[in-house]
Amino acid sequence: MAPVNSDSIEQVESEPVTDSPAAESLPRRRRRLSPSVLETVRRLQDRKVDWKRWLSTTALSALVHAIVLFVCALVVIQHPDFEELVSSIVRMENGRDDPLVEQVEITPDNLLDEVQESQPVMNVSEVLANSQSPVALNINDLDPTVMIDETSLEGLAKLDFSNETSGRTAAARAAMVKKFGGNSASEAAVASGLKWLAAHQFEDGGWSFDHGAHPDCNGECNQPGTMTECRIAATGLALLAYLGGGHTPTEGNYQRQVKSGLEFLVKSGKLTSGGFDLRGELASNHGHAAFYSHGIATIALCEAYALTHDETLKARAQAAINFILASQDFRSGGWRYQPQEAGDTSVVGWQMMALQSGRNAGLQVPFQSIKMVERYLNSKQSNRGSQYAYLEADQPTPPMTAVGLLCRMYLGWNQREARLRLGVLYLDGQKPSRNNMYYNYYATQVLHHWGGEEWTRWNNVMRDQLIQTQRTEKDGHLAGSWDIADPHGSSGGRLYMTCLAVMTLEVYYRHLPLYQRDKLKVEY
Ligand SMILES: [Zn+2]
Repeated sequence: MAPVNSDSIEQVESEPVTDSPAAESLPRRRRRLSPSVLETVRRLQDRKVDWKRWLSTTALSALVHAIVLFVCALVVIQHPDFEELVSSIVRMENGRDDPLVEQVEITPDNLLDEVQESQPVMNVSEVLANSQSPVALNINDLDPTVMIDETSLEGLAKLDFSNETSGRTAAARAAMVKKFGGNSASEAAVASGLKWLAAHQFEDGGWSFDHGAHPDCNGECNQPGTMTECRIAATGLALLAYLGGGHTPTEGNYQRQVKSGLEFLVKSGKLTSGGFDLRGELASNHGHAAFYSHGIATIALCEAYALTHDETLKARAQAAINFILASQDFRSGGWRYQPQEAGDTSVVGWQMMALQSGRNAGLQVPFQSIKMVERYLNSKQSNRGSQYAYLEADQPTPPMTAVGLLCRMYLGWNQREARLRLGVLYLDGQKPSRNNMYYNYYATQVLHHWGGEEWTRWNNVMRDQLIQTQRTEKDGHLAGSWDIADPHGSSGGRLYMTCLAVMTLEVYYRHLPLYQRDKLKVEY
């Protein structure tokens, strides 16, 4: 570096820089230098700068800035939105749409490749995120005696693909029944089941697993459930059967029944500091079914709000969701019999479906709570995430696998997930059960979302089995109901079986299939 000429410094300091013609005559270097630079240079020249002090000050400043940046980075990284942001970036880079699940390599590799090549890319997270769109209701109930010969393009054209429940309009139902493997007989079975349920609704608007206590039935239908105190759960299940077919307080053939049923739920719940508690009488004695009751009733409130946009229902539905959130066990990520109790997969399944219904309805469901469900599932999975157990120490079972896989689908696993495919192939191999309706209800939803030949194979058996086992007119008062065929069926009895069977036959339109929505789009 060239030495600084002290004479020129003095000269610059004494002659202010201006735009005057005189300034134009100054040497170019002197005109460029600002006063602060000149001062620094002058101090350097005068040897007034303590280099050691300057260096230590600079180093200290750099250290402080580095610490501040590090702390800021920690805060941002731990923020829930950050994970979503990062995962969205990863998705953009990798073409994946799995925001919630850590990707792990699953063998065999060729299975993964096969899945990636054969399945369309669907963005489940987008479907979940855009869940606040209004539902267009146009319900003219299907006449089950009329054969469905053609797919109605008009019904599909009005579908709102961002809302899972938009397939429940009458026009859409006709098209979707046809498209996804239902038929007039399955629709007739649904209609007959809803008729039986209406005949067993009590004067107060609610239902009971002890359906024989209804004065019009008076025990004529056998196989009542033993959980007589679970009226909220019974009412929630019956409402889900109606709502699943697009019947609301303002649409369809059962408006009065659905309206009074919802009113029963609203008056039966209890507003607490933790939210709207729908465990009912079970809450006081810590009944094992308490959170089944709450989860089922919450789904009913969320679906009713999604279909009606009734603000009163919205407030209750959100409060019921809040109660689920407040009751989640932070260690396991699950739910069981009491708030904050380590979870079991069956109870977790109902709460997860309630949270999903809340998301679909546009209610507030924090991302962190959903992440904790994923952590719960990780602790109960086996065979690389393709099978699930009831408790951690248990062996995986088909019913819990069906629950776990359905949760995984809503949590973001898509058809390129080899572990999901392995799970679906496992259920496909198990086939529909003759005596476990709970398993059939969940597995049917998994296979419906999955689609393809696995769904066709499953549905052909499941649909006809349910149609054939439903009680008919020759059975008198039993007509439209299903007998107990379930290891847990004695608790819920005929009403429980009938509700699950009706919802299983509503599968074609109850939820839009997660991975095959492009098949429903109508091109003009
Ligand atoms: Zn009866």
